[in-house]
Amino acid sequence: MVNLSQVVSVLETLYPLRYAEEWDEPGLIVGDPFAPVSKIYCAVDPTEGIVDEALAWGADLLVTHHPLFFRSVHTVAGSGFRGAIVNKLIGGHCGLWVGHTNADAAYRGVSEALADALGLIDQVPLVPISDPAASHSVGLGRVGNLATSVSLQDFARAVVKVLPPTQRGVDVAGDMTMPVRRVAVLGGSGDSLFDEVRASGADAYVTSDLRHHPVLDARQQAVREAQLRGEDPAMAARPAFINTPHYASEKVWFRYALEDIPDAIIARFGGTEGEGREKARVEMKLSATNTDPFSAHFGPSAE
Ligand SMILES: [Zn+2]
Repeated sequence: MVNLSQVVSVLETLYPLRYAEEWDEPGLIVGDPFAPVSKIYCAVDPTEGIVDEALAWGADLLVTHHPLFFRSVHTVAGSGFRGAIVNKLIGGHCGLWVGHTNADAAYRGVSEALADALGLIDQVPLVPISDPAASHSVGLGRVGNLATSVSLQDFARAVVKVLPPTQRGVDVAGDMTMPVRRVAVLGGSGDSLFDEVRASGADAYVTSDLRHHPVLDARQQAVREAQLRGEDPAMAARPAFINTPHYASEKVWFRYALEDIPDAIIARFGGTEGEGREKARVEMKLSATNTDPFSAHFGPSAE
């Protein structure tokens, strides 16, 4: 059987830690490097409920997209929820590995999975990372083209269709009849990449956690620029924005991770013999739990 340090070396080849943003500290958070690993549970968020699911399934390792810790830590006492999670993982002999902004930027990572799910062709990263060792272009976000131009309304419907179901659906800023061909995406919070999205020439930007002022300002500026070009702002003010639940935009990554992680472990540690391959086989499972914290949605027509 492979051990945790071997699995981590595979994870960090697929999702190199050097791709992470400088404020981010992904990687191995909990776990004994010598512990055997045969079952890997996956989820977007390392909540206590997710840890319970992982332990009940008999997982040796939990792989999540979101970090357990965002700030430096001085205690893992069980009086806080993060400490309780650490204690539960250790008690259950289960490690925790986080693939956060490193997994956003990677080949077949979070943003590429989202772009592929939407059918974008000729993709390039919004913020490329130079990595001579990589055989594919890597970096934050992706921009690419739909095979054919569609209305913003039809495109928003397509976005809802490819995302895992949540209570909220998506919010749209832009004229519903506006044509959409070039699309930028960033799984997770995308407020910070507006300049890169505008520079990419995207008709629409699909991301999460968008706020009132940045979107209102960007839309007003786009309308003004369309007017200055002598174009109809309803059709030419770009980008339009599609605001998705954060959890949903990132969960699509696991469609790739569930294939890529076990394949890469076997390729690295399975040797060529049948028996060696069997020993390096890991079982993967994705949590079906929706960890979007907003559990209900009331619209104007709600009773
Ligand atoms: Zn996120």
